[in-house]
Amino acid sequence: MNNDLPELGEFPENWKRMHLLGLEELTREELLILLDKAQVFRNAFDEGRRKFSFLSGHTSVTLFFENSTRTRTSFALAAQRLGASSVAFTASTSSLSKGESVVDTAKNLEAMGCESMIVRHSTPGIPQLLTEHVKCSIINAGDGAHEHPTQGLLDILTMRQRLGNLEGKTVGVVGDIAHSRVARSNAWGLKKLGANVIMCGPATLVSRRWEELGVEFSHCLDDILPRVDVLNMLRIQFERQYTSPFPSIAEYSFLYGMNRDRLRAAKENLLIIAPGPINRGVELTPEVADGPQSAILDQVSNGLAVRMAVMWLTDGARTRIQCL
Ligand code: ASP
Repeated sequence: MNNDLPELGEFPENWKRMHLLGLEELTREELLILLDKAQVFRNAFDEGRRKFSFLSGHTSVTLFFENSTRTRTSFALAAQRLGASSVAFTASTSSLSKGESVVDTAKNLEAMGCESMIVRHSTPGIPQLLTEHVKCSIINAGDGAHEHPTQGLLDILTMRQRLGNLEGKTVGVVGDIAHSRVARSNAWGLKKLGANVIMCGPATLVSRRWEELGVEFSHCLDDILPRVDVLNMLRIQFERQYTSPFPSIAEYSFLYGMNRDRLRAAKENLLIIAPGPINRGVELTPEVADGPQSAILDQVSNGLAVRMAVMWLTDGARTRIQCL
């Protein structure tokens, strides 16, 4: 089965999930399977081996009800590189505007024949809901402020490549913690791998939901700077807020923006990541975003590898479950 890419090895016995809804539900072992397989796809990508036939004859639909640049494109590319065809559903030009429900939309798309749906929606839980109504694999590409599992995976893969084992490493997640699905997926994944996580942001944007997971909280970036090995700089999710959480962008940037002066106070080999889109001059100054410590574009390449691994694994599990 893996003749295309022998390094993938046999399909992992312990991978049994035909859907990927979040990192919260994964065991540490499942998380490691995903990261290891993603690394195989990343190595192949770097060596110029980019086209495989694992999912040949399959169709994958990207069902996005919110905007996206990286996630949607990389899922479409991942499908194509695995030999599948990818079809994009665009909410704004669909019959949703005529009153069709999300579930009916998904059932109709599945009736045309597809093996996976990549779902992004502003309401938490929509991907989970769809698993109860369709037979294809459902992959969560971001559900409201709940989870964005493939972003969490690509962030962690990038950290693992640069820092090795993450056990005992300290990761600061900075910014709009309260509304960020990326922060949630990072927290679930990183804690399972033994990393220390510090959520840092203004009091109005920090949710204490993970206290029981052992996540630390801080409202002062300057305080945590000397301790962190990685900073994940989040965007402020204005689209999920009804009132302004701080007096001005300039003030936010002054207190929580990463700039050249703050780099001097940090560990010498601090790794800077950001999920994108970045707002230059707000959470990161251009010299930091484009500087040697930033892995932002490398994250994007890892995103493709992660999505190939997720599609390969969930499809393998689906085939096994549906053949029983
Ligand atoms: N692209 C990420 C997401 O969809 C982060 C962001 O939008 O700021 O959650």
